[in-house]
Amino acid sequence: MLRVKNLNVFYGGIHALKGVSIDVEKGKIVSIIGSNGAGKSTLINSICGIVKYKDGDILYKNEKLPKQAHKIVKSGICQVPEGRIIFANLTVTENLQMGAFLRNDKQGIQKDMKRVFELFPRLEERETQIAGTLSGGEQQMLAMGRGLMSNPDLILLDEPSLGLAPLLINTIFDIILEIKEMGKTILLVEQNAFKALSISDTAYVLEQGTITAQGDAKILIKDEKIQEAYLGKK
Ligand code: ATP
Repeated sequence: MLRVKNLNVFYGGIHALKGVSIDVEKGKIVSIIGSNGAGKSTLINSICGIVKYKDGDILYKNEKLPKQAHKIVKSGICQVPEGRIIFANLTVTENLQMGAFLRNDKQGIQKDMKRVFELFPRLEERETQIAGTLSGGEQQMLAMGRGLMSNPDLILLDEPSLGLAPLLINTIFDIILEIKEMGKTILLVEQNAFKALSISDTAYVLEQGTITAQGDAKILIKDEKIQEAYLGKK
């Protein structure tokens, strides 16, 4: 569904992505794990048009992905950014409606709003609450719900567990699996390597802008080197 080929990104003199290639198969969860500054957000931001890449190709459904962010959203990709950037002064419902701003199908929008509230009952309870007053976990749910409101085929999820309590992290990861069950494809970027690998089909390890390992997530989770570096085991 998504194929990134030999991507190079520079920030001035910093070579942030050095010939990165990944494949994301339809209906799967694919994760990118790696430590701070490895280039995970840069990869996601290149796919969704926020960061310009110097060379390489990004193919989506076998066609070259446009570089303009609104065209990328229209083609069925949504990004749920790191740090849950929501519209703090708008209500929960208004935030969700903003996620559907490129759509005209009223019935489809209503159906998706209902589905988002089924996935996140906490948001339904807080429909009229101002988003800036939600807890961190609720804001993460809202950011994910807003992403779903564009009815994407592919969701780019950047660090959904960041700063959340362990119990809430479990809830968020369970919901990611439910979103997969809805038929969506998910590219997940995470520092919480254990949680990411445990729900993913395939995974890539990104270190200083280079992919250093890749494969079946169930195999990677048992790899000694990965356990030492990312799973806190010796
Ligand atoms: P984290 O998990 O800490 O968010 P990351 O793996 O997502 O890290 P990136 O944010 O993609 O890493 O950063 C990769 C490298 O590029 C880092 O060295 C970072 O300092 C650098 N970088 C990122 N954005 C910029 C920018 N706008 N200008 C200059 N350098 C940048």
